[in-house]
Amino acid sequence: MMNDNYPRAILFDLDDTILDTTLSADRLWTQASKQFADEIGRSPDEIDRQMRQAREWFWSDPQRNQVGRLDLFKARAGCVEHALEQMDAGDNGLATRIATWFTDRRIPAMKPFDGALEALAKLKDAGVRLGLISNGKGETQREKVVRFGLEPYFDCIILEGEFGAGKPDRRVFDHALEELGVTPGQAWMVGDNLQWEVAAPQKLGIQGVWVDWRGAGLPEDALVVPDRVIQSIAELIE
Ligand SMILES: [Mg+2]
Repeated sequence: MMNDNYPRAILFDLDDTILDTTLSADRLWTQASKQFADEIGRSPDEIDRQMRQAREWFWSDPQRNQVGRLDLFKARAGCVEHALEQMDAGDNGLATRIATWFTDRRIPAMKPFDGALEALAKLKDAGVRLGLISNGKGETQREKVVRFGLEPYFDCIILEGEFGAGKPDRRVFDHALEELGVTPGQAWMVGDNLQWEVAAPQKLGIQGVWVDWRGAGLPEDALVVPDRVIQSIAELIE
């Protein structure tokens, strides 16, 4: 029995939509700052701050983002190296070791947001066709899908590294709709990235639901108007 409040299909983003990605990374970088403080010769707080700034610097650039998300280890080592340079400390070898320490712990440190898996289960039970569309390297994203037992929820899983294209490329949305057997007007895309998961699908006639997991509201300069704003995907079943 279809619930009238639900669309025929919902496409979900993975990182910072289903999985607590940024906050769990921040916590792990804070741990790394403590772990390597003696070797770097600065206080854990200073290291943590410099590494955070380096990450913002790195990932805010669309070009670096696109290349970096397909080679996360290199991106992480690059961020650490940048932070070490800012502190006039350490070297390449240390940057690589810190990036390795982080990478070994990264996926186990993630977890689904509270209520996220329950929401997916309830939508699936209600007969909503579910798709997962995630940017990033195929192996990394697939490891998360498997580790958190996400496969059974989805009728269609498109991972950028496996598929050969990523959001906002319309091919991923077109492919997902085709796989799920729905028209754009019958689908929602739900995610935390205003460009990838709201603006791009809206252009195709898919409703864009923005996940404001920080609870910070739309940026003042946002040109994108989401069809709906939620803080957690658990709200979809309320
Ligand atoms: Mg995301």
